[in-house]
Amino acid sequence: MQLPIFLPDATQGVVRGIDASDLQRTGIEAVQMNVFHLMQKPGSSAIRALGGLHRAFGWPHPIITDSGGFQVYSLIHENSRYGSLTERGMLFRPEGSTRKFLLTPEKSVQQQVEYGADIVICLDDCTDVDQPLPAQRDSVARTVKWARRCKSEFEARRGGGRQQRKAGQAEDPGPRPLLFAVVQGGGDRDLRRRCAEELLEIGFDGFGLGGWPLDSKGNLLEEIIAYTRELIPPEFPMHALGVGQPANVVACARMGYNLFDSTMPTRDARHGRLLTFEEDPAPSALTGRWFSYTYIQDDKYIRMDRPISAHCDCLCCANYSLAYLHHLYRVNDSLFFRLATMHNLRFMVQLMARLRELLV
Ligand SMILES: [Zn+2]
Repeated sequence: MQLPIFLPDATQGVVRGIDASDLQRTGIEAVQMNVFHLMQKPGSSAIRALGGLHRAFGWPHPIITDSGGFQVYSLIHENSRYGSLTERGMLFRPEGSTRKFLLTPEKSVQQQVEYGADIVICLDDCTDVDQPLPAQRDSVARTVKWARRCKSEFEARRGGGRQQRKAGQAEDPGPRPLLFAVVQGGGDRDLRRRCAEELLEIGFDGFGLGGWPLDSKGNLLEEIIAYTRELIPPEFPMHALGVGQPANVVACARMGYNLFDSTMPTRDARHGRLLTFEEDPAPSALTGRWFSYTYIQDDKYIRMDRPISAHCDCLCCANYSLAYLHHLYRVNDSLFFRLATMHNLRFMVQLMARLRELLV
């Protein structure tokens, strides 16, 4: 896996509208999935029966699984009826579901390893930057405690868990997955530092940026995000969890973040917002106005016989005009979702290739 890298979110085990061969065609090298969603649908026993995520998804390349900490936080934050946090773990009942789920640090690691993840992320207690200091302090204490439990479970499984699996129930054990821990602490520097130091002492393969990365106005929290990266020695990879807006990806990559994931490029594609380089990305310094959005619903594209971007070599740009895409969007055909998604992902792949050259 070359760094920096962008991972599309295949949250429910699918990058909506495209399959694994389409993904490969865009040049995407790894995807991110989520235990919170997968344990509900299709459920852990179904994933085991299908032989793990790589086989079920038809994707032989790396898969990172997120622990579900952020999703449970969002759910409980939205309405406390949906769940609660205890020292043991997170108890939740998703809206519309009659079932209750318990996500403990141990269970989160067990599931991610059983699913065949290549990078496992520790369960954390997520906050946003607007929460008061006592809540941030509790979040850091719990995140560190849970990270220690995740590490123990991870080590225990390495020590023999795999041999206990029944044949055909899970993927062949490849090289051991990596274990990442998440640095919380909201906007407080001392808490971020304490969290990073304690996690470094426990020892992990890499780290993630915890907490929602944007302020209430949608701006990247640059100062605290840069500071958090400085707390982790550069030899450890660091994942800017949830960062996917292109300008924010560039800003975080310049701070030293190496992995990015977001639903944004694929969701934008489905809504007709197509990412477009203003100039050829190959020599671009990625400063100033280096990209824009093409809004495909605009009537000005009805007869426009050129691709979305002269600088893109995706399946869509190589074969189809803006006018045809506009038409597909208007008639709401699923082919639009496929072509637009492949285009936006190709944009992210080209962006990461450029960043690799710029950040050498
Ligand atoms: Zn394209």
